[in-house]
Amino acid sequence: MWYIDGGKVELALSEVWLQNMTWEDFQSRMTDSSGIVIVPVGSTEQHGRHLPLGSDTFVAMAIAEEAAKKTGAVVAPPLWYGWSPHHTVLPGTITIRPEILVELVYDVMQSLAAYECKSVILLNGHRIVNIAWLQIAAERAQRVLGLRVKIFDPAYMSRDIADELGFGQVGHAEEIESSHMWYCHPELYHVDKVLDYVPESSKFHKIDPRLAGDTLCYVPLTREGMRQSVDCGKGVSGSPSRASVEKGKAYHEHLVNRLTEVIELIRE
Ligand SMILES: [Zn+2]
Repeated sequence: MWYIDGGKVELALSEVWLQNMTWEDFQSRMTDSSGIVIVPVGSTEQHGRHLPLGSDTFVAMAIAEEAAKKTGAVVAPPLWYGWSPHHTVLPGTITIRPEILVELVYDVMQSLAAYECKSVILLNGHRIVNIAWLQIAAERAQRVLGLRVKIFDPAYMSRDIADELGFGQVGHAEEIESSHMWYCHPELYHVDKVLDYVPESSKFHKIDPRLAGDTLCYVPLTREGMRQSVDCGKGVSGSPSRASVEKGKAYHEHLVNRLTEVIELIRE
């Protein structure tokens, strides 16, 4: 909960987004809320037949909104694009070169740094594929701009709850993403189109931070490499039939609580 003059405040959703504020609102919020800005970063990419192309961005926005309501942090307009070369095998996916994304998110942080912003949380809805370029931009922003930057990634911040909920491995459009989207945006969830496809596990390729064992570093697949998953699973890797709204709610609340804790930690 956010305190102003000793009183508890929970903001309305319309009050958390930078684009809804006037410049004066934003200026005073930077002073009142210790200058913390969350930048949701997602992707626009295929998510099987049952989830919308914007899923990664929608979930990043939902986590950011809820935590900002409780803490007074400001949420910047989301970055709807990520690095998705492997998903262009299906229509609608838009991928941006990572060197462009580094510069783009750096410029967002450079702009914020000029207005009393002290800390930025890059909230990544697109998992391992966005991490590499976010780390490069974050390091430069800390070194050159003097900002404190954290990368908040749901796959890393949900190890405990993912096991508790009995989720299988991180894949794509699997029960984790599906439960989360079903809870956050039921109007965009196509339950009648759910299809499971669990590819054979590969000894040295793991993208799930919960898994133990030796792992080769991740490089996105080629379009050709994606063919099998597309032919067999229509873009799904995992078991979305095991998704539920209840699991999505528990997963979402865990992540909001974690982000709230991170914001409080930055304030201390
Ligand atoms: Zn996704």
